[in-house]
Formats: sequence, structure tokens, C-alpha cells
Amino acid sequence: MNGDQFPRARSSSAEQGVEHEDFYNDIIMMIDDEPLMLGILEVYLVQAGYRNFIALEDSTRAVELIKQEKPDCVFLDIHMPEVNGFEVLEALRADPETRQLSVIILTSDTDPSTKLKALEMGVTDFLEKPVDSSELVLRLRNALIAKAYRDQLTYYDGLTRLPNRALFQQRLEAGVTSAQRSGSGLALMVVSIDRFQNVNDSLGPMAGDAVLVQIAQRLGEVTREAGYDQRKGQEGTARCLGRLGGDEFAISLPGLVSEEQIAEIASQITDVMKKPFVVDGEEVVLTASLGIARFPDDSIEASQLLKHAGAAKEAAKKDGRNTLQYYTSEFTDQANERRSLEADLHKALESRQLRLHYQPQLDAGTNRVTGMEALVRWRHPKRGLVQPDQFIPLAEENDLIIAIDRWVIEEACRQTRAWHLVGYDGLQVSVNVSARQFSQPDLASQIAEACSRAELPPSSLTVELTESLVMGDLDKTSSLLHELKDIGVTISVDDFGTGYSSLAYLKRFPIDELKIDRSFVSGVPENHEDSAIVSAIVAMARSLGLDIVAEGVETSEQLQFLKQLDCDRLQGLLLAAPLRDAEFFSFLAKNWNQLD
Ligand code: C2E
Ligand code: CA
Ligand code: CA
Repeated sequence: MNGDQFPRARSSSAEQGVEHEDFYNDIIMMIDDEPLMLGILEVYLVQAGYRNFIALEDSTRAVELIKQEKPDCVFLDIHMPEVNGFEVLEALRADPETRQLSVIILTSDTDPSTKLKALEMGVTDFLEKPVDSSELVLRLRNALIAKAYRDQLTYYDGLTRLPNRALFQQRLEAGVTSAQRSGSGLALMVVSIDRFQNVNDSLGPMAGDAVLVQIAQRLGEVTREAGYDQRKGQEGTARCLGRLGGDEFAISLPGLVSEEQIAEIASQITDVMKKPFVVDGEEVVLTASLGIARFPDDSIEASQLLKHAGAAKEAAKKDGRNTLQYYTSEFTDQANERRSLEADLHKALESRQLRLHYQPQLDAGTNRVTGMEALVRWRHPKRGLVQPDQFIPLAEENDLIIAIDRWVIEEACRQTRAWHLVGYDGLQVSVNVSARQFSQPDLASQIAEACSRAELPPSSLTVELTESLVMGDLDKTSSLLHELKDIGVTISVDDFGTGYSSLAYLKRFPIDELKIDRSFVSGVPENHEDSAIVSAIVAMARSLGLDIVAEGVETSEQLQFLKQLDCDRLQGLLLAAPLRDAEFFSFLAKNWNQLD
């Protein structure tokens, strides 16, 4: 078992010397104004095998010293000049840090009311002087067992018996302090098991727990060092393994800073993970992603180091998992930026900071405006206009996107209806629907309601779904698309060409239009491959009776090429950028009836 794991306190009899061993390194503090008493106590305890004592005559320093040295148990005299035992006790109990400290009163005061008062104040035990040495030792041992049990619940993970996050952080703090003192470095490694959820999902949580225990043991093999007693005194200089929660572990590596040393540990971890884990006769193969933060380079604070190593671990996961990533300040910048943007985004809808811009679509034959794509913009009070690429992916990670998409549909319908009313009644508006929105079971009725509220005929609304979305769960897609079709909206497949659609499936779906992705359009006509793909897409769409829209048209060469291919509609900066509603309105006035 890993030396840093919880020392099991067994309650069998004291004759079995080994049973005591676990506590011999505990720190025992003695507070008494009589030096002789302190001397006697120490003799008793040394005889019993204990090694770490702090003797204090001056009770005015008691609380301060206790907080500094964090003893496991305190022997406290009652009658002392200046600050008496009760006052010390009172101060200890009032402080959350020392509230649970084991205190054994040792006094010559035999008055029952004194004893009662002490017990009322939460002392662990009460001994009268002169004290019998074997009784003293037994009472101490019992107090330490009780403390160990409390610690186990508070500081150790019940499953793996490793230090939990709270204790790990304490150890890390000790490590940082001692590294600071000695001018050495420290590396903190966060180890996260890749796709651990799969184990829970496929084999059940019990099997998942069993695997976690095995992982803890294997990581313990890597972490263990010879020659360290990791429990007391050397907390700062010893390696420590802890479980941060779930499938995340952390290892503090004092003295280790060079990339070679860290790479060595990382490869040891990869090695121990390689062997399949066996649960219930099933073999499970797992990998881990590792994040590293270093003292003092990345931070001089334990809590920051933990955060940074966590951010590095996230980056390792993004990097394809089963890799090691060092922290760089960019991670924090990015994470902070995202967090602040996300917080603001929650307010954006209700503060009416979202706007729609409209990018015209022109008939490739006549240059007439046939419609427009509604594209959302965020007018951020401080950052100015934020483009959808910067906040749509963020919104897609939580449910915000549903509210945003819903608003976009409402607003696009309302605005289009307004333009219909002033004479542009053939105008077709396209809206983008995100994956999250698409999986809403009531999408079709939502859209139908939006149209009817705006009094916009559903046939004037085009719903753009990305190709990858349509090619997801085919049966589900099929029934959803039919629902949409039934309410009368036009269905367009966006970013077409990027998702390798199968023609057979496209045939099955009630699709009206394909939008050729702008990454292909940008390549034509110079790039032969892109030109070939675009030609093939157009030919295929024709054979299926689908309309073709080319997006991202930027040059007149592209325009010519696409016109020759007989695309139906064109959209792109060459014709017009996405425009604010007033600008779009003037654009309409100029281009609505234009024949050219
Ligand atoms: P998309 O659906 O592919 O939208 C077309 C994007 O191409 C728009 O970027 C548009 O401004 C840009 N674009 C238009 N013409 C040209 C051109 O000639 N050259 C180039 N390089 N780009 C051109 P935008 O507005 O930044 O939108 C980016 C993406 O954000 C959209 O890609 C769409 O996926 C998403 N998005 C925008 N609005 C919404 C919305 O209301 N809801 C959802 N769910 N997604 C939206
Ligand atoms: Ca005294
Ligand atoms: Ca689109």
C-alpha cells in the first residue's frame, strides 16, 4: 500500500506493538506551567514509543503555537498564571481550525465542577495528577484513534483511501512552503482518466469504483519513494498522491522541475496504465491525460498551481488525450476570457444586446434579391460587436443556445413580415438552427408558432441545418425533417460538402436546398479539386431536384464560375456583407427588381 495512504487504526489490544506504530509519529503537545510536569510527561511518552513533542510553559502562546504546529493531541493543564486552561480551551473551540483538536486535561484540581466544565467545553478526556503512566498512554492512544477516525472521514477518500482534495491541498501547501524555504522547485501533476464515464456507463458504477481503486494503487506505485515517512514532519518534502474527485488524481512532486524528470514520471504513469484493468472478468483499457504546473514558475500559491495544472490537463484532453501538457499563461487567459464572456452572455438576451444582421442572397441569373440569411450579432456593452463564432460555440455548451436560437427565429420572422408588408412580399429568410436546438422535441411546433405569431407564411422561412447535424441519428433526423416539412418551411443543408453526406440518405430526407460550404467556394476556380467538388455537388443537387446556394462568394472569378455551373442563388461579400436592418432595407430598395 502506498505510504501516503491512511494509516488504519485498529482497535485490537495494546500488547500488539505494531498497532501503536501508526501513531508514534503523531505530534503531542503539552501545556503546563510546571517544567517538572512537562519533564515527567515526556518521559512517559518516550517510554511508550512517541517521538514528537512540543512542551510549552507559557500558556499565553498556546493558541498561536497550536495553530502553527498543528499537534495531533494536546495535554492541557487548567491552573496556569495569566491564561488558564479554560481560556485556552475557549479560544481553541471558537476557531474553526482548532475546534476539533483533541485535548486531554491534566490537572490536580479534583473538584467535580471543574471536570464537568471541561467536559462541557468539549475536552476529549480528563486526567487527574498524579497520573499513572500506563493510563496516560492508553488515554492518549484512544484520543489519537478517535482523531485518526475523524481525519479519515474528513481528509481521506473513502473509496481509494487516498488523501482527498482538502488534505492534498494541505500537503501541497506544505510542499510549496518547504520548497520556498529550501529554494527548490516543485511540480504538480493532475492525472485525469480519459473517457472514464464510458466505464461507468458500460460496466456500471460498481465496476467503475473497482477500476478507480486499481488506478489509485498503480499511481501509488509511481508515486512511492523509498526513505520517506510521508505522514509526519516530511509532508512538504515527500511526494503525495491524492484523489481530487471523480476520475481525477493529483501528484505533488517536490524537488522535481526539469522536463526530463517530469517526462520520466509521465512515462511511468503511461506504463502502469497500459496493462488492462480487470473487473468482473472484463478487461478495460484506459489512458490518462496529464497536466503540469510548476512552482515557482507558474505560481507560488498551492491553490493556483492546482488550478493551472487543471487547465493544462483540460488542454491535454483537447489535444487528443493520452498526452502531457505543461501549463502556460494562455490557458488562464483563455479560461478567464471564456468565463467572463459566458457570464455576460447570460445577460445579453434580456438586456437586448443581440441583433440580427441580414446577408442578401441574389438570384444567380437575374441578380435580384430573393432573400437573406439572418446572422446573429452581439452588441457587447464593452467589447463592441462580437461575432457569432466567438459566442455561439460558448452558448452551445449550455442551454443558452436554445434561448438564442428561439429569439433569432422570432426576430427574423417579425422583421421579414415587416418587409413583406411594405412590398417585398416574396422575401425569403434563412435562419441557422444549432444542434442543441435541433434536438428539442418541440422544434417544429416552436417554429410554427413563431411564424403564426409574426403572421409570416412558413414557406417564407428557410431553416438551415448543418450537414453533420443532418447526418447524425438518421431515423431521428428523418422524422424531425418531416415534421418541419409538414409545417411548410423550406429546409436547407448548410456547410454542404464538409460532412461527406451519403447521397442515398439525402434522397430519403425532405430537403429543399443545399448550401455549398464557403471553404469550397473560396477555392474556385483556381483550385481544381475544389472546382471539381463544387461541380459535382451542383450536378448531384440537380439530379435530386434540390436548389443550390453558394455562400462566401468573394471574387468575380468565383461569381462567373458559379453562374456557369448554373447555381440558383449566391451569397457573399462580393454581393453584400451581412447588413444591419436599415442598410438591408436600402439594399432591397436598390436590388429588388433589378434585372441585369
Ligand atoms: P454560416 O451559417 O456558415 O454563416 C455564413 C458566415 O459566412 C457568416 O459568418 C457570414 O458573415 C460569412 N460570410 C458571408 N459572406 C462571406 C464571404 O464572402 N467570405 C467569407 N469568408 N465569409 C462570408 P458569421 O455571421 O460570422 O457567422 C458564422 C457562423 O455562426 C455561421 O456560419 C453560423 O454557423 C453561426 N451563426 C450565425 N448566426 C447564427 C444564429 O442566429 N444561430 C445559430 N445557431 N448560429 C448562427
Ligand atoms: Ca499549575
Ligand atoms: Ca448558415
